[in-house]
Amino acid sequence: MTLRLTPEQIERYSRQIMIPDVGGKGQIRVRQGRVLVIGAGGLGSPAAFYLAAAGIGTLGLVDYDRVELSNLQRQILHFTEDVGRQKVASAEEKLNRLNPEVEIRTLAVRLEERNATEILAAYDFIVDGSDNFATKFLVNDAAVALGKPFSHAGIVRLQGQTMTVIPGKSACYRCLFKGPPPPGEILSCQQAGILGAVAGTIGSIQATEAIKFFAGMEDDLLTDRLLIYDAKTLSFRTIEVQRDLGCAACGRKKGIKSTTAESSVEAGKPGS
Ligand SMILES: [Zn+2]
Repeated sequence: MTLRLTPEQIERYSRQIMIPDVGGKGQIRVRQGRVLVIGAGGLGSPAAFYLAAAGIGTLGLVDYDRVELSNLQRQILHFTEDVGRQKVASAEEKLNRLNPEVEIRTLAVRLEERNATEILAAYDFIVDGSDNFATKFLVNDAAVALGKPFSHAGIVRLQGQTMTVIPGKSACYRCLFKGPPPPGEILSCQQAGILGAVAGTIGSIQATEAIKFFAGMEDDLLTDRLLIYDAKTLSFRTIEVQRDLGCAACGRKKGIKSTTAESSVEAGKPGS
């Protein structure tokens, strides 16, 4: 791995290197960072775009879907001519053009219990840009079991929410929501709609958290707080989240728990 920045790298990343909280040392750590982005969609597109632009070392992308015309309103890595292509191939091409220094790894598979641990294990930080509750709980439980920091997010209509989890230190997604809501109780983006720019705002925050983590701002992350963004009133608020010592994921018993429907303590929150 690069231990010194080349003159080209110093120029490319100059505007973030000049930030005192990042600096040359922070940039070198960003260059050594390995981030897995789950989903190359509404959240994953802006997150991966900013991570590649910022010079992250390795960027993994997991998505088994193909690009559809209705994706283009928000999934900014995909263009009109990409309709029908594998999303990870479309995303890889754009990210390579943006920053050829970044090692892009693509996985055109569905993240499932049988492969989650193996896939997540090769990365230092996970950005969860998935669009369903089962995957969000799967990512949480696998990341907590592996001790991998991650950014959770959910979006629907004009609302978004996000929280960063440092396993063993901060509250996890399951500390907040015990399990997925019953099917149909909370509408997905597909059912309820989503404004593309709202996905962009939340995905950008997820990228920001990953960059902060590597650059040395790990004490300033969005941990033990759920950030809720309402684009209709243009307001941000945070609610405090406490670690649940009896949590099925980060409490005494660790491992991947059921991702099927259970009662949700906070039904009505944005889901996907
Ligand atoms: Zn927990």
